[in-house]
Amino acid sequence: MPDVMKTLLLNPPSFENFDGGASSRWPATREIESYWYPVWLTYPAGMLPGSRLLDASPHKVNWQQTIEIAKDYEFLILFTSTVGFGSDVKLIRKIKETKPDLKIAFVGPYGHNKPEETLNASEDIDFVTQGEFDHSVVEFARGKPLSEILGISYRKDGKIVHNAPRPQLHTVELDALPFATEIYKRDLQIERYNVPFLLHPFISFYTTRGCPALCTFCMWPQTISGHAWRVRSVENVAREVELALECFPQMKEIFFDDDTFNIRKDRVVELCERLKTLKFRWSSTARVHSDYETIKAMADAGARLFIVGLESGAPQILKNIKKGATVEMGRAFVKNCKKVGIKVHGDFIIGLPGETKETIQQTIEFAKEVDCETIQVSLAHAMPGTELHDQMAREGFLRVEALADTGGHQLPHIEYPHLSREEMMAGVNQFYDEYYFRPRVVWRIVREALWDEHERKRLYHEAVDFLKLRAERLKWARQSQGTPKKKTLISVPETRSVSAND
Ligand code: SF4
Repeated sequence: MPDVMKTLLLNPPSFENFDGGASSRWPATREIESYWYPVWLTYPAGMLPGSRLLDASPHKVNWQQTIEIAKDYEFLILFTSTVGFGSDVKLIRKIKETKPDLKIAFVGPYGHNKPEETLNASEDIDFVTQGEFDHSVVEFARGKPLSEILGISYRKDGKIVHNAPRPQLHTVELDALPFATEIYKRDLQIERYNVPFLLHPFISFYTTRGCPALCTFCMWPQTISGHAWRVRSVENVAREVELALECFPQMKEIFFDDDTFNIRKDRVVELCERLKTLKFRWSSTARVHSDYETIKAMADAGARLFIVGLESGAPQILKNIKKGATVEMGRAFVKNCKKVGIKVHGDFIIGLPGETKETIQQTIEFAKEVDCETIQVSLAHAMPGTELHDQMAREGFLRVEALADTGGHQLPHIEYPHLSREEMMAGVNQFYDEYYFRPRVVWRIVREALWDEHERKRLYHEAVDFLKLRAERLKWARQSQGTPKKKTLISVPETRSVSAND
């Protein structure tokens, strides 16, 4: 065994426009092409000399090319997702046909939730990781025996063995990790990453890990990142920002893609004091609980936009999903952001517990009232490993149907006796239509495009993609209405319970 195995870290090829796997909290084919950076894979990549991070979809690397590339490596680390798992298993079979001695680890939330199912699905998988996998895969690549690696499951003498869990990394250890930026520079083309509401090109990385909030639908804090909020030191973050500014002079902004960037006021204010001196533009995730003073500190430090999970305009639904925030807090937060000139991209979800046709309309009205710069409307997805999944399965509201169609587009898989899947799907279209086809919003979009040619081209492509997917949703609803309906809803078998770390 060499000192370090030659390692390929793979965010696998998938459906066209599919934003899944290594950094997507909500894997699906989007309305408009968008890809997040595979941040989780950059840390082991940075600790393994001679490795390569291959982010196949944004770099347009297909199956055949991936198989060819993998031939040159001894160890493959593949970040799988619930939606992409079946396809990933087929891919590694093809890879193993050309490189039988390749070692393979599956990482990410899917294997975390279902280690046995993952290993049973394919003899080609040598081990699967749970929780944060940075050091688990590095230790294997450096020759440590499977029996001594914390936080993994593997096969031994025909049985599946689960090693003891790996403790989460804390501040000093987070600071000791390599910078994601170094790997972006080495292996990725930043122009390939496009997120409609972020400036292009951008890069993203984490300044913290975990989120203490308990939102029942949210996968990451319930699987790999945990509920303990762990921060990198201010100086460590500042050094990575400096490096990014140096490496990518063409970059228009940095996105701090933490589970939640603004959990604690003192840390946010301290970090912003330091970021201010670097004079650059950034955006981040945010919860609605920050006060005006904190939001102002962020604006003064260069904050341009926040992605905010407003989720619903119905107070009871926010309670049902343990959001820990109210409609009033959302309203005040967006208002304060506008006051200091920070834009908000509001995320909304249709089909959460308690949803009715009336609450969908209530949420649409709320969205129009707060009037975020842009919005995203998703169907509620009860991802395995989340409290929402267990609740929906227990209460019999989960349909045994795919989370996505063969193109990776989200499909409703929750249904209530009083709200059908077709009504939820129709609600998504209605939401987008009512929100975006308002004169003030149309003018806002046109105004941006008027002065910027790149923006004009991008908007054109996005409009085409958006209308295409809208038409597909309508088609799905029509076809689905023509299909005879089952009388009873089916529960799926109990899933492994959630592994929270709070
Ligand atoms: S606040 Fe955001 S990141 Fe945290 S649990 Fe809720 S949805 Fe997830």
